[in-house]
Amino acid sequence: MPSVYEYTKDQLAELLAGEPRYRVDQVWHGLWSEGQALGDITTIPKTLRARLAKQFPGGLEVANDVQSDHGATRKWVFRLTDGSTIETVLMGYDDRVTVCVSSQAGCAMGCTFCATGQAGFTRHLTAGEVLEQVMFAARAAAPRRLSNVVFMGMGEPLANYIVTMKAVRRLHEYRGLSARHLTVSTVGVAPAIERMAREGLPLTLAVSLHAANNETRDELVPLNRRFPLERLHDACVNWMAATGRRLSFEWALIDGVNDTDRALDELAPYARSLRAHVNLIPLNPTPGYLVLGSSSQRVREFRDGLVERGVNATVRNTRGRSIDAACGQLANVTNGRRRSIPVRSA
Ligand code: SAH
Ligand code: SF4
Repeated sequence: MPSVYEYTKDQLAELLAGEPRYRVDQVWHGLWSEGQALGDITTIPKTLRARLAKQFPGGLEVANDVQSDHGATRKWVFRLTDGSTIETVLMGYDDRVTVCVSSQAGCAMGCTFCATGQAGFTRHLTAGEVLEQVMFAARAAAPRRLSNVVFMGMGEPLANYIVTMKAVRRLHEYRGLSARHLTVSTVGVAPAIERMAREGLPLTLAVSLHAANNETRDELVPLNRRFPLERLHDACVNWMAATGRRLSFEWALIDGVNDTDRALDELAPYARSLRAHVNLIPLNPTPGYLVLGSSSQRVREFRDGLVERGVNATVRNTRGRSIDAACGQLANVTNGRRRSIPVRSA
């Protein structure tokens, strides 16, 4: 049985055939506007509630639940019905509440520094599984209202394109989230960026760049061999032309690898030519890639270096470091596959 979040309103109406018409509105409102679990939609009769809750048990089972930043960051590992695990992170800020969702169990892209990449690909998530992560987090965030969704958990969202777009559309149309508040982060699947540009939705695009010369990027991000920096640049130009939206680059600073003055000189013109914002984060070391993140001093110097070179750059708040919030790490620890290693404080 698919997730109830996969249903359109017409499909829900079919499911509720025989019930008064206003029941459809009540269930729909409870599900999407209120973000309620089916069993908690008290505007409908108890028997119907129970029937629906039984029919749609949901596909996520909490396997781990941790928090940090005095409760402002929460992270769950969910076990899916087939036993594979994914992770979801909820981050509360002064001005917004953001959930970071997974789009795949594992990832086939094999980025060397990434725990998810090191563990390999298990399977694509369904749109229902993506949406259930969002709605679960929305309930946990209450009474604050979830405002932003970022596809920065496990997996490459543009390698699971149909599902990602379906989830994005549902969140925009049914939940009423602004497209600008929906961020798709990609390692740089150039044709899929161009396809997404034609969807007619002003989404926010984040590209995980990490290196601005092909030799280094080939090593960090194997997909670069297929879509090298020049091709990625074209895709970014097309994105901006079609959507009128700027984009940002993610850059995980790795000691001695991409935090050098040479890296600054390579990144600055690339980012400037696209008027892209650069988000810097110190690498969170992973067991399969024993290189350190840059020191906090070097992170600041690198940011200043970019700003001096005319690039808009900020250091991203490393939320949840103490709970292994970097991509894929907590799921691995929960599975006992890999041991967490201490990180140096930012
Ligand atoms: N596959 C997509 C989205 C998921 S990864 C992508 O790569 O963009 C989300 C972000 O976490 C990416 O920017 C990725 O490069 C970054 N990341 C992965 N492992 C990391 C680590 N060990 N330290 C810091 N950032 C990491
Ligand atoms: Fe996949 Fe993103 Fe990790 Fe690369 S960084 S392996 S694309 S999840």
